[in-house]
Amino acid sequence: MKQKIILDVDTGIDDALALLYTIGEEKADLLGVTTTYGNIDVEQATRNTLSILDLADATKVPVYPGSAHRLSSKEYHRREVTTRIHGQDGIGDTAIHQSTRAPEKQTAIDYLIETALQYQKELKLVCVGPLTNLAKAYEKNPTALLNVDEIVIMGGALTVPGNVTDFAEANIIEDAKAAKRILESDLPLKIVGLDVTMRTILTQKETNKWHNFGNEESQIIAEMTDYYFKSYQEQLGMPGCALHDPLAVGIALYPNLAKTLALDLTVQLKEPAEGRMIGDYKKLNRGTPTTETCLQVDHEKFLTLFMTAMEKVLH
Ligand code: CA
Repeated sequence: MKQKIILDVDTGIDDALALLYTIGEEKADLLGVTTTYGNIDVEQATRNTLSILDLADATKVPVYPGSAHRLSSKEYHRREVTTRIHGQDGIGDTAIHQSTRAPEKQTAIDYLIETALQYQKELKLVCVGPLTNLAKAYEKNPTALLNVDEIVIMGGALTVPGNVTDFAEANIIEDAKAAKRILESDLPLKIVGLDVTMRTILTQKETNKWHNFGNEESQIIAEMTDYYFKSYQEQLGMPGCALHDPLAVGIALYPNLAKTLALDLTVQLKEPAEGRMIGDYKKLNRGTPTTETCLQVDHEKFLTLFMTAMEKVLH
């Protein structure tokens, strides 16, 4: 049976790859997509999401606009480094066709609650941006989200350094307050952080295959991903890129890809460790944890699954 999924995205190049991967995955039933600020402002994240769905002929998947800024702020400021990583438009400044489709009128928050109530244990949420939408939905209706099967979060770095500071990963620090609320809740969480995503690497070898498909869509996605490679090369001296957001979807669909640690977590809010995800002292002796963090991954198996699904979408 197909797994019902909602993707919460801040589209972003790796979000775009996660959307395409989900559409190509035979195991996934993508019910809808909710958007947030993060890699880019929420309006552009929503436009990017619609354009990527159009490119993949997934024109019936509804898109619900969400939060415009973090909980503790009234506006969104884009990090300069984010522009270098994802491009001005957030998806590599390619010649992608701009979608003319409008997003849904219902907000991301209400859609998350309504769909969680409707499908409960049949539903998994995969959140691959800052956790503001999730925190707002949880605040508005805690019971709705408690009853879903699993909430898979791309974020954090438990056993490796962060990618914004030594302590913090981008999605968590972007709204550390929201992340703290979610991690300290009793929601059924699975964390897919840099511990595993930095081991799951896509390279030019793979994007060359997309270039060679020779159609317009595959060219655009290959160019978009090559753009992402540049920042990895410049900043980390690394050939290729980490498949952060696609891996979160992969682990939601194929839990056996990862080995996990069961440990309730929290997020530190004070400098210099702002945004650091770490074990929650208060819950250390509380019994069964509700959070599992992925520490090992079968990256070769995931890369095969990813490339198979991408070929289906782009060929
Ligand atoms: Ca993202």
